[in-house]
Amino acid sequence: MSNNFSPIKAAAICSFTGHNLKVTHQVNERVQEMCCTKCGKQMTTNIYGKLVPLSDQYSRINRALNQLAIKKNRRELSL
Ligand SMILES: [Zn+2]
Repeated sequence: MSNNFSPIKAAAICSFTGHNLKVTHQVNERVQEMCCTKCGKQMTTNIYGKLVPLSDQYSRINRALNQLAIKKNRRELSL
């Protein structure tokens, strides 16, 4: 058995022990993008607060949500 790090093995370990998710990007007050420090898998919370794998589609949605959040913050600051 080899001791070399393999993402497939890490992902298999994660499936037993759970991912060790670290927030990589705060999209808005509800949505966060996360990355597993063990296997590197990217996850995101969606607008319903559910944890889902970060797909291209969610990536695009998050960028749009982030733009909205920035605009909202600017409006609040200028009040
Ligand atoms: Zn993981």
